[in-house]
Parts: sequence; structure tokens; C-alpha cells
Amino acid sequence: MGATTLDLSRASKAPASPPNLAGMTRDELRQAFVDACVCPPEKAKMRASQVWRWLHHYGVTDFDRMSDVAKDTRAKLAEAFAIARPEIVERQVSRDGTRKWLIRFAPGIEAETVYIPDVGRAGALCVSSQVGCTLNCSFCHTGTQKLVRNLTAAEIVAQVQVARDDLGEWPSPKEYRKLSNIVFMGMGEPLYNLDNVADAIDIIADNEGIAISRRRITVSTSGVVPEIPALGEKTATMLAISLHATNDALRNELVPLNKKYPIAQLMEAIRSYPGLGNARRVTFEYVMLKGVNDSVEEAKELVRLLKGIPAKINLIPFNPWPGTQYECSDWATIERFAAVLNRAGYASPIRTPRGRDILAACGQLKSESEKIRASALRAMMQVD
Ligand code: SAH
Ligand code: SF4
Repeated sequence: MGATTLDLSRASKAPASPPNLAGMTRDELRQAFVDACVCPPEKAKMRASQVWRWLHHYGVTDFDRMSDVAKDTRAKLAEAFAIARPEIVERQVSRDGTRKWLIRFAPGIEAETVYIPDVGRAGALCVSSQVGCTLNCSFCHTGTQKLVRNLTAAEIVAQVQVARDDLGEWPSPKEYRKLSNIVFMGMGEPLYNLDNVADAIDIIADNEGIAISRRRITVSTSGVVPEIPALGEKTATMLAISLHATNDALRNELVPLNKKYPIAQLMEAIRSYPGLGNARRVTFEYVMLKGVNDSVEEAKELVRLLKGIPAKINLIPFNPWPGTQYECSDWATIERFAAVLNRAGYASPIRTPRGRDILAACGQLKSESEKIRASALRAMMQVD
């Protein structure tokens, strides 16, 4: 009797979902319309501009709201494409206005996005670029999770759209916005997903859409040196570096990627980042770990290391998680550290915690979300 093997691979696959227009660049949109025979090629550019405004200026999620598009064209669009938002699994609002969404992009693909008011010009949105992370910084909870996958450009843009829906910011306001800044400081290493991050930034920064200026978008990296020039060329956004240590021995331990790209190489890449100046400083993130990297001597070393680089330093109180070997430095130690930096002329904000009431609960979202508390987030997100 021969054994029968059931082939479940087909059965278990979900039907391919239609391409999502909301994550396409203008060129991709135009091409998609031609390929799907939505309109003749000579009309594709005009049609793409029209749909672009509906998607990114008005934030519509229903083709029927595109009132200046002919009914039969709308029907064709709806048949070939998707524009709906991903599912919001959980939404929390803090008493202080901090908002957090757990978004499910696909089964098992979830990430958190956090909006914090009074950061940057008006308020900053912290977005994720990957689900999980391939790097394993020893103090980071995300680093203990395996990478699930890169987020697509559409999924990155969707985080901004979800926030805008919730904040009531459609059509895209020109002034007095609640969401003024974007920081890529959520889950994942953005420079390992640079193509999608760059496409998402092109969409977010486009003047006829969400229109958040590149000067108000900050990308944080743990130090993927070979991709830093490409980040500058492709996105022209603000750079943030997760430094956390001033010598290679310690940084190798905290940010193991340092073994591949040591501090000297990292500093060289930073110095060549295009557009640097006093109006466009690099942000250095430095997590305060008790007895590990928080001495006055290390603060002085940090000042020496950053010499000549237009910089500001965000001191991040360490957020402990179950099983971690680290503790957060005492407040007095953090203040002493900050004082050395301030005396040397660097802005080095440490802010009071916000949004604790909702973010405390977020510590329970174990596998799918990042374990950074409000205090850490706020410190990380000190942007212009
Ligand atoms: N992967 C990128 C961006 C996301 S991490 C990077 O490493 O830069 C955003 C910031 O949070 C980084 O500076 C990271 O070092 C910091 N961070 C991670 N875990 C933390 C924790 N437990 N407490 C405080 N900050 C943490
Ligand atoms: Fe990844 Fe950044 Fe966490 Fe390091 S700190 S493990 S690079 S998310």
C-alpha cells in the first residue's frame, strides 16, 4: 500500500490580493494603469495624477469617492486594484495624547506605529520598516525576535495613512498639522529595507499628497555603513545613528553589527552624509545603561568622537524587558552625562515620560511589537 501525500501547499495559500495603489510611486501607478488597461497609455499620466491626489491628498479608501473619475473607470480600478487600509488590531490613546496602533498587514505580519504629540514641530509618528530585525543588539527586545519580513512601501505608507485617518488630517493640511514629523525608529533596520523605505519616503514627501518635507523625516540606523551614502542619495532625509558606545570593544557587545562596520568607518560615512550643517544635524542615539556606558569619562569620549560633526544627542533611558541583563542608569547619572554634552555645546535632551498609561500595556504585545516605552520613544524622537 503506497503512502499518499496530500499536497496542501496550494490549499493553504491565500488568493493573491490585488496590487495596492496606495503604496505605488507615481511611475508605478502610471505603469499599473497601462498594464491593467484602465486607460489608454497617452492618458495614463493624467489619470495617475488624478488618482494620486485622491489617495494621498484626500486619503480616500473607496474608489467611489473619486468623483472626477468616470464611473466605468472607477469600476475598472476597483476590479484590478486595492486601496483599503490594513486592519487595526488595537488602538490606544493616552491621556496625554500619545496614540498607538497595532496594525495587521497580513496574517502574522503585525507592527506598531506610535504618534507622540509635542515632538518635532507639532507631533511625530514613529514607523516600523520591518517586522522583527536580523540584527541583535543586546539591549533591544526586537533583536531577540527573528525577522519576519521587510514591510513593503505600501505597508510603510499605510502606517502614516492610518495615523492621518485617526488624527482627522485629510485632506492634507498645509498648516497647523498634528502630524508634522516622521521617524523611522520603530521595529527593524530601515537600511536593510532601503528600496521600500525610499519609495515610501517619495510618496510621503510628495507635495501633492501627504507632503511631509524630507527635512522632517528622520531615518535611524544601527550603522549599516555601506547603505548610508545611498540613504542620502535616495531620500535626502535626516540621519540618526544608534551609537550607544564610544569604543569598539563595548559597541561590539551592544551593537554586534559594529564588528562588521567599526566606529571609525561609521564616523567617516556620517561625515560624508550629504547636506550636513547646523540646520541639518545628525542625531546620535545613546541608550543609558547602568554601569555599562554611562560614565562621565564616556561622555567626554563622546564629545571627542563627534568633534566637527553637526550633531545632537538623544539620551534614551533604557527600557528594561523580561530577561534582560541591563538596567537603566540612575537619573542623576543621566543628568551628569547630559551636562558634559551640554557644556561642549551639544543639545542632549532627556525628556519626561509620556503616554505611559497606554504604553505600559504595550509591553504585553510580545512577539509582534517592539518593547520601547514612552520615555525611550520620546527621547529617541527629539527632532526638529
Ligand atoms: N534599527 C534601527 C531603528 C529602530 S530602533 C536602529 O537601531 O537605529 C530605534 C532606537 O531604539 C535605537 O536607537 C535603539 O537602539 C533603541 N532601543 C532599542 N531597544 C531599546 C531599549 N530597550 N531601551 C531604549 N532604547 C532602545
Ligand atoms: Fe534591530 Fe535597531 Fe533593535 Fe538593533 S536596536 S536589534 S538594529 S531594531
